Amino acid sequence: MATIANNLQLVRNRISQACLKVHRPESSVTLLAVSKTFPAENVREAFNAGQKLFGENYVQEALEKIAALSDIRDRIEWHLIGPLQSNKTRPVAEAFDWVHTVDRLKVAQRLSEQRPPHLPPLQVCVQVNTSGEDSKSGCDPDASLALAQAVAQLPRLTLRGIMALPAPSPDPAVQHAALQQVRRLFEQWQAAGLDVDTVSMGMSNDLEAAVEEGATLVRIGTAIFGQR
Ligand SMILES: *Cc1c(COP(=O)(O)O)cnc(C)c1O
Repeated sequence: MATIANNLQLVRNRISQACLKVHRPESSVTLLAVSKTFPAENVREAFNAGQKLFGENYVQEALEKIAALSDIRDRIEWHLIGPLQSNKTRPVAEAFDWVHTVDRLKVAQRLSEQRPPHLPPLQVCVQVNTSGEDSKSGCDPDASLALAQAVAQLPRLTLRGIMALPAPSPDPAVQHAALQQVRRLFEQWQAAGLDVDTVSMGMSNDLEAAVEEGATLVRIGTAIFGQR
């Protein structure tokens, strides 16, 4: 029977196999369980199976789940991985641990201003539109270093790295090329002196390719919770 606990184990096995193949330690890849559209009980089930990091796309839906799971709030990390409009930043700054989808300085500035003083800095990734099919999300790769440098200066944010959502492709060569481009940009940021450690890429269908190309955090929904 495909329970969430079983699925999690299968995904962890896929990550360790991919790590083995390219001689990376298993501990170099973090699993983010993407729980969008699934109820809080499913998140709790995954938590009880040892999963600690959860990704959500829609702010309102996430806030409801965070409230429903307030008893385990300090043992969970909540990551926003969906598009963020600048008029929705306040609840995000107040409720989340991470935001992967910073693609404009204005959004970053608002998150920094609105991050409550009693909380640690908000951990953020700059989303880059490499080969993305949704051309509205993610900053232009050529503008990404300057944006990352500006984000790194904001007092209540900690810049952690890069996030990308390459257009899905059934062709492994196309998958690898898109993921490699993200990894190269990340290395350019490091070469420019940015202190970053996170490459957020890889979903249920390109997990192995992403790990082979250097992902440090993979965002997996369907393979854990089922079809949406
Ligand atoms: C939904 C989503 C995922 C998870 O995708 P699956 O194919 O279900 O694993 C990862 N990242 C982002 C940004 C998403 O919106």
